[in-house]
Amino acid sequence: MARYIFITGGVVSSLGKGLASAALGALLQARGFTVRLRKLDPYLNVDPGTMSPFEHGEVFVTDDGAETDLDLGHYERFTGVSARRTDTISAGRIYSNVLERERRGEYLGKTIQVIPHVTNEIKDFLAIGEDEVDFMLCEIGGTVGDIEGLPFFEAIRQFSQDRPRGQCILMHLTLMPYLAASGELKTKPTQHSVKELRSIGLQPDVLVCRSEHPIPDRERAKIALFCNVRPDSVIPAYDLKSIYEAPLAYHRVGLDRAVLDAFQISPAPRPDLRRWEDVNDRLTNAEGEVRVAIVGKYTQLEDAYKSISEALTHGGMANRVRVRPEWIDAEKLEQPDGVHLLDGFHGILVPGGFGERGTEGMVAAAKYARERKVPYLGICLGMQMAVIEAARNLAGITDAGSEEFDHEAGEERFTPVVYHLKEWVQGNSRVERKITDDKGGTMRLGSYTATLAPGSKISEVYDGASEMEDRHRHRYEIDARYREPLEACGLWFSGMSPDGRLPEVVEVKDHPWFIGVQSHPELKSKPFAPAPLFRDFVRAAKDLERMV
Ligand code: GLN
Repeated sequence: MARYIFITGGVVSSLGKGLASAALGALLQARGFTVRLRKLDPYLNVDPGTMSPFEHGEVFVTDDGAETDLDLGHYERFTGVSARRTDTISAGRIYSNVLERERRGEYLGKTIQVIPHVTNEIKDFLAIGEDEVDFMLCEIGGTVGDIEGLPFFEAIRQFSQDRPRGQCILMHLTLMPYLAASGELKTKPTQHSVKELRSIGLQPDVLVCRSEHPIPDRERAKIALFCNVRPDSVIPAYDLKSIYEAPLAYHRVGLDRAVLDAFQISPAPRPDLRRWEDVNDRLTNAEGEVRVAIVGKYTQLEDAYKSISEALTHGGMANRVRVRPEWIDAEKLEQPDGVHLLDGFHGILVPGGFGERGTEGMVAAAKYARERKVPYLGICLGMQMAVIEAARNLAGITDAGSEEFDHEAGEERFTPVVYHLKEWVQGNSRVERKITDDKGGTMRLGSYTATLAPGSKISEVYDGASEMEDRHRHRYEIDARYREPLEACGLWFSGMSPDGRLPEVVEVKDHPWFIGVQSHPELKSKPFAPAPLFRDFVRAAKDLERMV
């Protein structure tokens, strides 16, 4: 049976709970334990799938097709453990499950209440798969004291009581603000936040205190005293240059030791930190720099493309170069001479996105990259726009476009080379979708296999493999009927679904490196195992940088 570590936050949001959880997961793995990480989000959306990237950052997709919080991406990047649908839940989903049960009469006419019905639903969720790992790390979103969070805090209190003594611990993150005027670090917000926790029956075992300044022993002792935590379980967390320093940094200040100590696991197995030492060595000893333009829609908010920027960092680490990404608003490329914004970059990346706004700028970026032989990586929408560009400018289908934009506008303006496919095959089963389905249920989601053409660049990227597997999240597909005319003009459909119906990869034949993929390879990239497409895209950019 797994031991449970609950991770909560207080004082302010954005303290880096997700990162602390992920780093702790990595450190427990380094000591030979198996882990799984989970996120419980108190908001009322049923899942983040329909939330704007401006609201909640990127939607992270799991192999089994769940649309989740971007924290699950951090968990995977640090532990390499593939997240599952059952690793994330929101209050919206919990309430919707409870209400569905009520409608089915499963509560036998009882009055439905937060305690026990909602809390039981949360506890059932926590218990899923508890026999599979040594440690289950469960992060509660939000901040202690939030109204929506209460049922979750109550559920973890009950859960810890239901279990044998010593099976569950609580790690709480807080902030220690620094008052420049008096030159002091203040412990009071931390004290208040722990008081808030204790008022709902929860006592932290480990306190992680974010601080911009070194925390003196005196302040540590004070926190320990007032918060009823052992002094060596008050762990300072300082700002880092890179998130990938977190496992080693947390190890140095004793986080994993404090956690194992709280479970009374002794002697603690010795950690093997070589993976993270190598990651840090690659990060700090990069030689040279490549500049990559990311031409997208949600460029004001970096979190909207979190996995993309991380995967680029990983690609840089694999090639021992620093990647400097620059976010370019696609609409700017639609201005006269706008494409000159792309001058001087060593690579152009067009990421995923929804809706028509900015897409003409993306088409312009694909044209620029194709004609000037700049390395191009098109991801999902970025592949679709590359196909539209080739259809217009190589195959003479001058009004080529995507049905997505016609649906949005409510009129037919384009020849849809990207269209809405109603059914396809996943594994051995047929999947159907209607444009009228709920917004949450109309996408091709999760991991799919693509068959790669021998001798293609994409099969070279995957070390000569005949297949690749990556995660999808999109409603529209390239229409395979355009394969022949486009291949006749040099756009190779070098990856297809195993049944040959769905184009998965395109590449420009007469080009040093121009690949579009329908999937999202960035989602599986890790600092210690970079996504092959990002690794090779950065390598191509590095080659161009050396040439000029
Ligand atoms: N909007 C496009 C589609 O739904 C692309 C989606 C994406 O880039 N993830 O097919």
